Amino acid sequence: MLNQDFKNLLVNQERDQDVRRIWEQLESVPKGIQAHKTEIKAEEDALAESKSKLQGLEVQRNDLEMQVGSAQEQIAKYKTQQLQVKKNEEFQALTHEIEALEKKISDWEEEEIGLLLDIDSETEVFSKRESVFGDLVSKIRGQINALEQRQAELQGELAEAQNALGLSKEAVKPNLLNSYERLSTRTKMPVVVAVEDQKCLGCHLRISNVALEQARKGEELTTCDNCGRIVYLAS
Ligand SMILES: [Zn+2]
Repeated sequence: MLNQDFKNLLVNQERDQDVRRIWEQLESVPKGIQAHKTEIKAEEDALAESKSKLQGLEVQRNDLEMQVGSAQEQIAKYKTQQLQVKKNEEFQALTHEIEALEKKISDWEEEEIGLLLDIDSETEVFSKRESVFGDLVSKIRGQINALEQRQAELQGELAEAQNALGLSKEAVKPNLLNSYERLSTRTKMPVVVAVEDQKCLGCHLRISNVALEQARKGEELTTCDNCGRIVYLAS
């Protein structure tokens, strides 16, 4: 049968574990929030990238159209000049210039067809992204809000748990508490464990007969020969 001092120690350990568990949950919250913020940033970047790609293609297309336009003007000028020249070789030279420009125009127009196809597919990408963007971002913001609420709840739970731990500490004998706290800073919780079939339930190894006997008497603090945890016989 466990004495009251030991029962108090076990209560203290339980509350200590509550505090630790809440701490761990609280510590994970900012990382979760940050991850969601990164998701939003990635969505914004993808949308902006698609938009600027589309704008870049439009600029290229406008440039091409301007090139075509000015080449056509140039051709018209050459044709006017052809009406004025007197020598046949001058006329031929202008014809040569006109043909060269016409060849360029045809190349540019072909290039423009390719550009138009690119613009179509990029417009589709951009429209798809834009149509889901609002919903996606507000969904992620909702997740961030939920995490922030959870954070506030956990802070409340932590304050309560710390308060309860403070009270249970007061009920534990100082020498027991010292041993417990020393152990709990360097050993994986729980550090007060039962013995079953002569095995420590902390490390699952067999404890010595001497330790077993000592634990049975329950008069002094018994520790596991292997892991150093405080052990007790539950029955
Ligand atoms: Zn052990």
